[in-house]
Amino acid sequence: MAQLVELQRHIALDDYEGVAQLSDAVRNLRQEAGRLVPILKDRRVWMVNSARQGGGVAEMLPSLIGLMRDLGVEANWLVMETAEPAFFPLTKRLHNLIHGQGDPNLGPAERELYDRVSRETADAVRGHVSPGDVVIIHDPQPMGAGAILRQTAEVAAIWQCHIGFDRDTPETQAAWAFLAAYAAPYDRAVFTAAEYIPACLAGRATIIPPAIDPLSHKNRDLPIHKLVGILVDAALVPPFGPVLTSPFPEPAQRLQRDGSWAPASQPDDIGLLFRPIVAQVSRWDRLKGFLPLMEGFVALKRSLEDGDGQPTRHRRAVELCRLVLAGPDPASIADDPEAREVLAEIGNAYGRLDPPLQEAIAILSLPMRSQKHNALMVNALQRCSDVVAQNSLREGFGLTATEAMWKRVAVMGSSAAGLRQQIRPGLDGWLIEDPEDTAEIARALGELLGDPHRREALARRAQQRVHDDFLVFTQVRRWLEVITEAAGARSR
Ligand code: UDP
Repeated sequence: MAQLVELQRHIALDDYEGVAQLSDAVRNLRQEAGRLVPILKDRRVWMVNSARQGGGVAEMLPSLIGLMRDLGVEANWLVMETAEPAFFPLTKRLHNLIHGQGDPNLGPAERELYDRVSRETADAVRGHVSPGDVVIIHDPQPMGAGAILRQTAEVAAIWQCHIGFDRDTPETQAAWAFLAAYAAPYDRAVFTAAEYIPACLAGRATIIPPAIDPLSHKNRDLPIHKLVGILVDAALVPPFGPVLTSPFPEPAQRLQRDGSWAPASQPDDIGLLFRPIVAQVSRWDRLKGFLPLMEGFVALKRSLEDGDGQPTRHRRAVELCRLVLAGPDPASIADDPEAREVLAEIGNAYGRLDPPLQEAIAILSLPMRSQKHNALMVNALQRCSDVVAQNSLREGFGLTATEAMWKRVAVMGSSAAGLRQQIRPGLDGWLIEDPEDTAEIARALGELLGDPHRREALARRAQQRVHDDFLVFTQVRRWLEVITEAAGARSR
């Protein structure tokens, strides 16, 4: 099955051009598009992925498609669906293997399942496409379907892989051995970093780094009253006084000490508006490194017991500081079957902490029913943070870091390849060498919390870096180049 997604809100290119900081980038994009878009006359572009929401791909597609449409490209979005319960666990395994993790034994049963769902998906997508169209397939889930379409419909096909690992291991080899057959028919592949390109796609791959939309609900500026309104409406802070807007139908939920969930302002105010805040917002995935981050934070708090004579202001910052670990409500993401399990693991570790440490940590499940509300909650949480952490064990790119950098928040990332691509250590963020080294995490958090000038310097350069390299306008321009090239090559 494949669902056609209607785009909800669309910001016009003119709106972006009206923002002083963005106008040059928009003008450059228009100029390039004037040359490239006519090549796509009478062709449509189809983006195919496996999730309507949750995660980086679903995050990027609406802006990418919206801007392409504004430039005159007929772009659409299809989300694959399957009633086969074992399919997404299998593709999650492939995802983890590409990141170098998990059991590399993939046999005929896995192949049969993957092929069967790929055929079904290809049949469903075929009903939408016409000869000459360009199909862009995202990640391993619909990759097999795209390969079949390339062979059976007269379309150009591009595969974009949003994940990758900069090392060759038995696990990555198993994943690519499984996927190589599906890679073969594609006209082109797109990766987010050169280190991720596997041998089976060498010579056919282009690099397009991910990007953020600066006017989306996730990233747009939030004037102070709007910010406070969102926090109150989402129950992320208790209402200190009357606010203009009504509460969100589904507030953010916070894990309570007894293991139950309640609106996030219970049992007490997290302190988002008053305390130093360290936050990580990610999918509930083991590779995001939530657990070692929590342990590092606990080690930092425990270091207070040493009374090691740190300057008072530093000490006070560590005393007051709170850690927020936030992610999407696991019930809401169809293609991420591990989320519930991972959140339970984090909850169990939290349950074993002493009450004062539990008080200092808020584990939040953010409802996803309204994407707008979810995006605004993430936006507000990132803006309330003194440090945004992305302690990933593996990271294809890490839009959460980009989002925080754009908001001029200091970022503490791990040295996972995707984060290294964005953060130049000491320049526009802090990089942890080993995301499982809790002492290193504690040290880094302590130094960042204790030094507001350093945070500000890192954050300022981080925003500039995103402005120069990771905004959606560059991404659209690169895509137009790849699409027109693939379409031209296919028709020759
Ligand atoms: N995200 C979200 N709501 C949540 C948690 C995460 O919208 O509750 C978003 C987050 O803001 C980011 C994306 O999901 O835009 C995650 O992308 P990233 O590249 O960091 O990692 P991925 O999930 O693709 O591995």
